[in-house]
Amino acid sequence: MGLKIEHVTKKYGSFSAVDDLTLEIPEKRMFGLLGGNGAGKTTTFRMVLGLLSPTEGKITWNNAAIDYSKSHIVGYLPEERGLYPKLKVRDQLVYLGRLRGMDKKAILVQMEKWLDRFRVPEYANKRVEELSKGNQQKIQFIAAVIHKPELLILDEPFSGLDPVNVELLKEAVIELNQNGTTIVFSSHRMEHVEELCDQLCILHKGKPVVQGGLREVKRSFGKKNVIVKAD
Ligand code: ATP
Repeated sequence: MGLKIEHVTKKYGSFSAVDDLTLEIPEKRMFGLLGGNGAGKTTTFRMVLGLLSPTEGKITWNNAAIDYSKSHIVGYLPEERGLYPKLKVRDQLVYLGRLRGMDKKAILVQMEKWLDRFRVPEYANKRVEELSKGNQQKIQFIAAVIHKPELLILDEPFSGLDPVNVELLKEAVIELNQNGTTIVFSSHRMEHVEELCDQLCILHKGKPVVQGGLREVKRSFGKKNVIVKAD
């Protein structure tokens, strides 16, 4: 059970953005995908989300192809944040929650819970363009989790955030995971992954270089010629 990525390759012409990647992420775990620029993290996530088709291999959730029409399965925080700048935060989240099949009341309850949690209840009435990049990221995170997905994919969730907001977001991620959400997130930085994940994979030029438990990966990490750049 959980997310299985089996011998997945994504080719653009003769170039492999992801090259024979196999990962097994059990349900309710927190898993880190670590790699520098161009390692293939976003491409992997887009295939899991059904936005790109693998050239080879298959991806399953709980042993079945992912049914994207079921709104509760996957939540996604994309690397390129994509909110509507002119919409108020409330309208933005209502719109995105409705796309997830939620009713307005349930969306507003979740929105209030999360805005309180991020200590910004007053943002409900602000337009997205009035918020800093870091605060827009928090709203995008709320949009990714508002429908309580089983599997949450976070592409570089901590980049561009100040340390206080990194901590707030980490606490939220830990709590979601403790409540049963399976979480996969990407990062350039080992420190985020080692703090949050017990399992990880280091990708380099589309290939998995090392994967497994934190201790074994760290042990072999130093021996391999892998470049993981800081943000
Ligand atoms: P970053 O941290 O910079 O976002 P990443 O690990 O997410 O990197 P990807 O965005 O998955 O990396 O890209 C992997 C490789 O595939 C890169 O070399 C990228 O240039 C290439 N690539 C991605 N999309 C395409 C495309 N549509 N056509 C050709 N090459 C692509």
